[in-house]
Amino acid sequence: MKRRDFLGQAAAIAAVPLGAGPLIRVAPLLAWSRARPPAPARADGARVNRWLALFDQIGRTAGGINRVAYSEHDLAGRAFTLDLFRQAGLTPRIDAAGNLIGRVEGTDRTLRPIVIGSHIDSVTDGGNFDGPLGSFGALEVARTLGEQGRRLRHPLEVVVWSNEEGGVIGSKLAVGDFKAVDIDTVARSGKTIREGIGLVGGNVAALEREARAPGSAECYLELHIEQSGLLEKAGLQVGVVQGICGLRFFEVTIEGFANHAGATPMDERRDAVLAGARFTVAVNDAIRSEPGRQVATVGRVVPTPNTRNVIAGRVELTLDLRDLDAVKLERFADRFRRVGSEIGAASGTTFSFRESTRSTPAIADAAMMEAVEASASQLRLSHQRMPSGAGHDAQEMSHICPMGMIFVPSVGGISHSPREFTKGEDVVNGVNVLLNAVLLVDAR
Ligand SMILES: [Zn+2]
Repeated sequence: MKRRDFLGQAAAIAAVPLGAGPLIRVAPLLAWSRARPPAPARADGARVNRWLALFDQIGRTAGGINRVAYSEHDLAGRAFTLDLFRQAGLTPRIDAAGNLIGRVEGTDRTLRPIVIGSHIDSVTDGGNFDGPLGSFGALEVARTLGEQGRRLRHPLEVVVWSNEEGGVIGSKLAVGDFKAVDIDTVARSGKTIREGIGLVGGNVAALEREARAPGSAECYLELHIEQSGLLEKAGLQVGVVQGICGLRFFEVTIEGFANHAGATPMDERRDAVLAGARFTVAVNDAIRSEPGRQVATVGRVVPTPNTRNVIAGRVELTLDLRDLDAVKLERFADRFRRVGSEIGAASGTTFSFRESTRSTPAIADAAMMEAVEASASQLRLSHQRMPSGAGHDAQEMSHICPMGMIFVPSVGGISHSPREFTKGEDVVNGVNVLLNAVLLVDAR
């Protein structure tokens, strides 16, 4: 998708208050009601829970789940998953980037595929649900459709993306975003991405040839655990993802003057730590001063010389800013710069900002959100629209096709942790929402 389309969509979504309005939408939207089958289909969610329990034994260490991309345990997880593809009647292949793909042909050969999937790699000392839920859920959808003799009009592609936790690498490469990936970077496993791709059966030389072109898929749908705890707090079963937040990361350097902590009078100090503390409070106040789900964090603060009896002459800190609305991100970035120079002027320090990372919000497609809502409504599951603060493979697929995501609650909003857990009933709900959303999209 072109940048301009993105900004147009971002502006459209900016007009919709994210945090406001009624939380639960019960009525399915009219656009979908005509295509609605008489009763919702049901997947074998218990089977997905069994797969998740078995998968929990792969890469489980004292610290948590360790299925870091391209590691020995990642390879074992991929072998397990390839077997699930075969059990679902799919003949899996590995694409150039190392992603696992299975395809079921539809009845209409002229239609583009509906793509569903997620990832199975983990962070270091992570959990068992972030990724595997959506991957196994997608495999179960394909298997249910086969077992129930429901043939889709569109081809159905199940994709298990490689190396999501290393920066959505598999999906980035699959959509041809080569500039964003340095394949000679050393990944968490200690191997470079290039070596890792070779190890898992990909082919770096074929990356460009195999890249998915814009418009080459009907849509992409991904089921994932929610990672912020909002659904659980609201007592809701399903999150309809509005998009994946864009982010702006800044390295802020504050220059003051290092001097003796005992001998320098209070009114003669140019204290970089004090200026950094004021800035941290000001960022927090500013980001909370208007409604919405925007977040800003000062996460790392490094004073120099970092000593008890010296007023710090310099502070380096990080500023992490995220939201679904690109215009709002820009506005807050400007505001934080202004706040820095005001605090600098008042405290005899100078602030300089270096932007280290920027990503554009990936907006979910309106029709995909409606399909997910209609699916949840058919299943009589409570739901709400919400942004995703975390990154997902869906953000990359949104560059080539309409994208939608389904969230189910994670207990306590915990993820990337051995304590990450999603209840069995929520696993079942998520898989059923994905299944019926696929059926609705197929029938429209
Ligand atoms: Zn994930």
